[in-house]
Amino acid sequence: MISFKNTLINCQYCGQAIMVKAADAERGEIVCKHPNCGKVNLLNMQTCYDPAITEGLPTFGQLTYAGRPDLVYPLRFGKNVIGTGSDCEVAVERFQHGGKCYISRRHCTLDVTFDKWRGQLRYLVQNGAFDPAVNQHRNSLNGTYLNEVLLKDTEQIDVSEGNSIRLGGNDQFLLETYRIPEPMLATYRVTSCFDADSTQ
Ligand SMILES: [Zn+2]
Repeated sequence: MISFKNTLINCQYCGQAIMVKAADAERGEIVCKHPNCGKVNLLNMQTCYDPAITEGLPTFGQLTYAGRPDLVYPLRFGKNVIGTGSDCEVAVERFQHGGKCYISRRHCTLDVTFDKWRGQLRYLVQNGAFDPAVNQHRNSLNGTYLNEVLLKDTEQIDVSEGNSIRLGGNDQFLLETYRIPEPMLATYRVTSCFDADSTQ
């Protein structure tokens, strides 16, 4: 069963707004009701998922320090700044290597978003973080590696289940993603329509 919310589209012929209702969506076409038009618009239907689903999730995944299953850091929806600073969403220990810590106070950012087309959470990592003290993005001192590849400045890369994020030269964290269960997804499925022009 599909759920469909009334949607405004622009008529492909006269350009004026027309309201698409569930019955039109089921037929796959709508007749423009504007005077002197009356043309038939074909509807392109697409399925997506209501982002409200993220309000009911039990978890957004977590990071585990490699080799230390007891060091687990839960993630939240939205931006997770990872670093040794106590103001970070993911505040990690000052791990020492030869008496030195290689993790910056605000080292990298792991952004948890919702991909409404796939209906799954998306994880994006970026070196550095926004620093409210100077009101700009600042890179970490020793860099961030995703699966042993050094992230370039301003690069934002997808992180998948089991991938490793290494902060500075030494400390490795493994991502455990949260996969939204299929039965729950089904209840948030939404069908919307686009006129041929808007999908180009
Ligand atoms: Zn029209």
